[in-house]
Amino acid sequence: MKQLGLEDILKVLKKSPSEQRKKIITEAYEFSKKAHEGQKRKSGEEYFQHSIATARTLAEIGMGGKTIAAGLLHDVDEDTPVTLEEIEAKFGKEVAFMVDGVTKLGKIKLRGSHEEYFLENLRKMFLAMAADIRVVIIKLADRLHNMQTLDHLPPDKQQRIARETMEIFAPIANRLGIGEIKTQLQDLSFKYLDSENYNYVKEIITKSYKERERYVNQAIRELEKELKKEGIEVLDIHGRAKSLYSSYEKLKKYDMDINRIYDLSAVRLIVPEIADCYEALGIVHKKYRPMVGRIKDYISLPKPNGYQSIHTTIFGPEGRILEVQIRTQKMHDEAEFGIAAHWIYSDKMKKSWKEYIFGSKKETMDKELKWVKQLREWQNEIGRDDEEFIEGLKIDFFKNHIFAFTPKGDIIDLPEEATPVDFAYAIHSEVGNSTVGAKADGKMVPLDYHIHNGQVLEIITSKDRKGPNPDWLKFVKTSMAKSAIRKVTRKENQQ
Ligand code: MN
Repeated sequence: MKQLGLEDILKVLKKSPSEQRKKIITEAYEFSKKAHEGQKRKSGEEYFQHSIATARTLAEIGMGGKTIAAGLLHDVDEDTPVTLEEIEAKFGKEVAFMVDGVTKLGKIKLRGSHEEYFLENLRKMFLAMAADIRVVIIKLADRLHNMQTLDHLPPDKQQRIARETMEIFAPIANRLGIGEIKTQLQDLSFKYLDSENYNYVKEIITKSYKERERYVNQAIRELEKELKKEGIEVLDIHGRAKSLYSSYEKLKKYDMDINRIYDLSAVRLIVPEIADCYEALGIVHKKYRPMVGRIKDYISLPKPNGYQSIHTTIFGPEGRILEVQIRTQKMHDEAEFGIAAHWIYSDKMKKSWKEYIFGSKKETMDKELKWVKQLREWQNEIGRDDEEFIEGLKIDFFKNHIFAFTPKGDIIDLPEEATPVDFAYAIHSEVGNSTVGAKADGKMVPLDYHIHNGQVLEIITSKDRKGPNPDWLKFVKTSMAKSAIRKVTRKENQQ
């Protein structure tokens, strides 16, 4: 494999990078290189190669200098003798905060049931514990490189990591609108989780690829000529191939019949303004007959993750069916880089980053995205100037929440300063009523102990316990525990 170096990061930076930006990246590069010196990965590669790959992805999707520096340093605190204090002294609070966040996130166990509600809780908790959206993005870039080098791990680890990636990381990338990373994570996980179907889909798609490519190129030439004739400025027009995993998802819906899928390849058209998108749509339809019911206007009605584009399916050259996607450059960057695109556009725009993730007000929310909506409403209350924009990157919505695990890995959502008694009642009132003790992360703790985020709680119960202790009311935090305790003690008093 090619050895990566500093140049590989610097050359993919978006916009024209300032000297200051290049300086912090270069310093983090040298610092991290020295810290990881001599360390090797399972593949036999220098450990530092992983740090460079992570930082390069962050540069590619348009993240700023501090985030890229934190990407270079993300494993320094955890895996080398260099401490967080040293990182802070050299690179400042913000970078140290991000490195610390990545280290902490790495410690969360993302295992347990495959039920959707459970997975959704895990994703929530993951975002909540990140505290800063940039930490999540570093973690995604880190995971991407780990997936790219997964071949070097034993099969059971491959399965566990691939499943976690498919169930937790890819959906988070999707929710943040970072299509570029989501697609790669899905395809890589797919390869390990279902190699049979992966190979099958890969084969049938590769077989028809050359022919489709020729056809798409022909369509591009004809469309471009037509648009120019009508005076539309074309910033870019290119073919795009559907990813393996999303092709598979679609194939499953159509009895694995590849001929029934119209968007394996598509033509993507980038124009300057929103008005140009609609004008271009008219020109495309004048030239090629559109398929009824296949025009999707995600510009007026963006997808829940903020995706915007117009899609139409036409009977193109040779009368063959072809999908055309029309969007502005900004929509394009947002579709590829999602929330990260904000860093590219931030000085031009005063729009809140939340709208990037969570869409505009017009859209209707899926039920499963309810929590995202809550988050957005809360975020709308904060202002929009630049200082506050940075502040707003912190996911404070969950600040007053704690997530604790049962020994089986179920997540219990609790308020801050919740105690083992609250935890016990959150599981079941019977468990609460027969509680005699508790362990946090394997150690005995008093019943009025304040649970920390991410701890595993084990409740010790006894059949001899004749109901709750009224004194518990002095320290429990949840109304669920309070009312359950009162209910039992009231009954006793009546007797
Ligand atoms: Mn790492």
